[in-house]
Amino acid sequence: MLYVSTRDKQHLNPVNLATAVIKGLADDGGLYMPIHINTLGNDVLQKLPSLELPEIAGIFLNHLLAGAVSSSTLQAISSEVFDFPIPLEAIGENIYSLELFHGPTLAFKDVGARFMSRLMKSFNYDDAAELKVAVATSGDTGSAVAAGFHAVKGVKVYVLFPKGKVSKMQQKQLTTWGDNIVAVEVDGTFDDCQRHVKMLLSDPDLKTKALLTSANSINIARLLPQAVYYAYAWSRLTNKNKPLVISVPSGNFGNLTAGLIAHKAGIPIHHFIASTNVNDSVPNYLDTGVFESKPSLPTISNAMDVGNPSNFERMLHLFDDKQAQMRELITGYSFTDAETMAAISNLYETTAYIADPHGAVGYLGLKKFIQEKSFTGNGLFLETAHPAKFGETVEKCILNTIPYPERLAAFDVKDEKFIACPNAYDVIKKLVLER
Ligand SMILES: *Cc1c(COP(=O)(O)O)cnc(C)c1O
Repeated sequence: MLYVSTRDKQHLNPVNLATAVIKGLADDGGLYMPIHINTLGNDVLQKLPSLELPEIAGIFLNHLLAGAVSSSTLQAISSEVFDFPIPLEAIGENIYSLELFHGPTLAFKDVGARFMSRLMKSFNYDDAAELKVAVATSGDTGSAVAAGFHAVKGVKVYVLFPKGKVSKMQQKQLTTWGDNIVAVEVDGTFDDCQRHVKMLLSDPDLKTKALLTSANSINIARLLPQAVYYAYAWSRLTNKNKPLVISVPSGNFGNLTAGLIAHKAGIPIHHFIASTNVNDSVPNYLDTGVFESKPSLPTISNAMDVGNPSNFERMLHLFDDKQAQMRELITGYSFTDAETMAAISNLYETTAYIADPHGAVGYLGLKKFIQEKSFTGNGLFLETAHPAKFGETVEKCILNTIPYPERLAAFDVKDEKFIACPNAYDVIKKLVLER
């Protein structure tokens, strides 16, 4: 299977998987996508309900990657990546929550980060050529990437986080790894960190001295494994005769794009709901046909505070830039913080289910769709983070305490190690070259 940039309409410069993953971003500034996505055979589809998550992952990824990695290697990687459960919780009549937060850092980004690290290792670069991965984080991405790459041989990871602007809990999850994870505290903002990473990736001098890539969701290696849990969710439904709609709480729209890939590969998903907080450029596009990126607004579902979603370009690519086609498969809704908090309260009161602010936005989108369309099929929303990660907000809504998960507590007792850096590209570049 070959990959092309979203901006390479004539498919003039296809690359293999390893190149797409190591480059991260195509030279023309576009994002890599598979040239085509084959439909899964009906025989394979019918087999999925009898298999467990790691096997489904192996089979589905083998289908999507089509020979780029041997099927035995892919099965081994899948078993390692998907070694935690992704339960489909029934929380109402025909309403399900797909809990993606049972991994090491309690957010769905664990799936993509764990897969990317192991895939890179399987490319087998010689030992002398150490791979370097740079990632900018406002909190959650960095911890998932650090956890995913920790102790992976031949790869060194530089996590740039803004000084004093990540929560205490997040800082612990970024700075307590050691080994091949280098935490870099930048005396600047998240945007500064992101700018430094972009500069590192496009620095011609660095290109001659190091093999460097990014682990942000522009990387196709993070998206492909996320398609797996859409297939898995469908396979666990008890009533497969009814249509399935999936509501995806979205920021950079990587998660939703992975769902679209699963749909293209033949997973029977009837419709998607793009649920956002007030950062609503994609729901607006679906309504008006005009895409307008805006500066991001802060909300309580802060991992979705994105004004210019990077994967929107991939969505357009999948629908040949046609809004009408996109609208046939995706409906967009946006919600305020007040609506989100009311949803967390209401869900808890009526079902005892505790949602985090991101999952609650997904739930709101699903509810609205069901009401507007009088939908009676299977409705599912993605629960992208453990509610304890946003404990303060959630406890205010449910007027109760939530137990602090052991996996989070384990970080608190570890010592932090990080390199404090001025907000200066030269210093950061030197660090990446020498550490
Ligand atoms: C990153 C993140 C999202 C948004 O996912 P995208 O793929 O960027 O749309 C939603 N919820 C949580 C908890 C996240 O960390």
